[in-house]
Amino acid sequence: MEKKIAVIKGDGIGPEIVNEAQKVLDKVGEKFGHSFIYTEVLMGGIAIDKTGVPLPQETIDVCLSSDSVLLGAVGGPKWDTLPGNLRPEAGLLGIRGALKLFANIRPAKLIPALAGACPLKEEITKNGLDLVIVRELIGGAYFGKRSTTVDEKGVKTACDSMEYSDFEIERICRVAFEMAKKRRGKVHSVDKANVLDSSRLWREVAHKVKEDYPDIEYYDILVDNTAMQLVRNPAQFDVLVTENLFGDILSDEASMITGSLGMIPSASLGEGSLGLYEPIHGSAPDIAEQNKANPIAAILSVAMMLRYSFDMGSEADAIEKAVDEVLNDGYRTGDIMSEGCILVSCSEMGDLIAGRI
Ligand code: NAD
Repeated sequence: MEKKIAVIKGDGIGPEIVNEAQKVLDKVGEKFGHSFIYTEVLMGGIAIDKTGVPLPQETIDVCLSSDSVLLGAVGGPKWDTLPGNLRPEAGLLGIRGALKLFANIRPAKLIPALAGACPLKEEITKNGLDLVIVRELIGGAYFGKRSTTVDEKGVKTACDSMEYSDFEIERICRVAFEMAKKRRGKVHSVDKANVLDSSRLWREVAHKVKEDYPDIEYYDILVDNTAMQLVRNPAQFDVLVTENLFGDILSDEASMITGSLGMIPSASLGEGSLGLYEPIHGSAPDIAEQNKANPIAAILSVAMMLRYSFDMGSEADAIEKAVDEVLNDGYRTGDIMSEGCILVSCSEMGDLIAGRI
């Protein structure tokens, strides 16, 4: 099969980790008989330096005409003083909107070889931890009406409104139920229906969608309880689906209980098969251009791309298995290093994983 991939390397460690992800992808292509054709485009700080804007139109056009998009990370201190709409991060929001990516998928899985990095007690993690958060990405408070006003007495008031329409809730719930079908068959829909109108509509729509999936075990859960349960008994969760703001907070919490930032991939999906795949970490300017970064989150992002955009499940399994094997053999980048393990560079880690495909 031939697939066109738009590649946005970005800033800081972005180019280093994306190079390793492409190395692994090329090895998958070789072994499984696929050809991956890359088109490199600019976004973030490097785009500002070269074109004056964080997200050039050409980047959007190339991404839209590709089968998928691989992104490293953007941002860095050099661009921190620019106005909000011209900062590298504006590129991130812009590309999600331009590609109409409404679902963010973030797995949180405890890798046995790295169990020591998990901040939870062993009695909690002994039942495992393997869940996915499906977060609505282009609605809710981050995209609702907002205002900051000052009244005649000088009192300053700011307001953000959390708005959801039924169709937005329905499409994200369907993503979660479909995902649960391919996993352990359980969905928790997270809301704050005891307080918020938008959550009451969320719950109503989620219940309607659930009727189309009689084989899926379904639960409503309040967001505050979810935050507690994630650290008390994370093994109870398979797929969690929630709105934008709750999902932002819960997905960071879920990521942190697995250990290192350098290990966690993500996918952002829309209606079709085009998706944007990226590690959850940033551009790590403190270790950029030193060949020290952990490329595993980027490599696992590519595995998600194969699974969700290209329907190449066996190829994705091969990458995940290779990562597990290399970690089981004791190889570590600096961020996940522990006693008795073998320290390797970013490119050595890429070579080791590609070598196991
Ligand atoms: P960060 O994730 O870049 O780094 C936090 C810490 O984790 C640093 O010590 C870093 O060295 C370490 N780290 C992160 N990824 C690593 C990896 N793969 N291997 C080894 N160590 C790793 O977060 P930050 O320092 O808050 O942000 C730096 C820049 O990245 C900022 O400009 C921020 O806006 C941007 N950012 C971008 C994205 C994105 O592109 N999606 C996400 C978050 C932050």
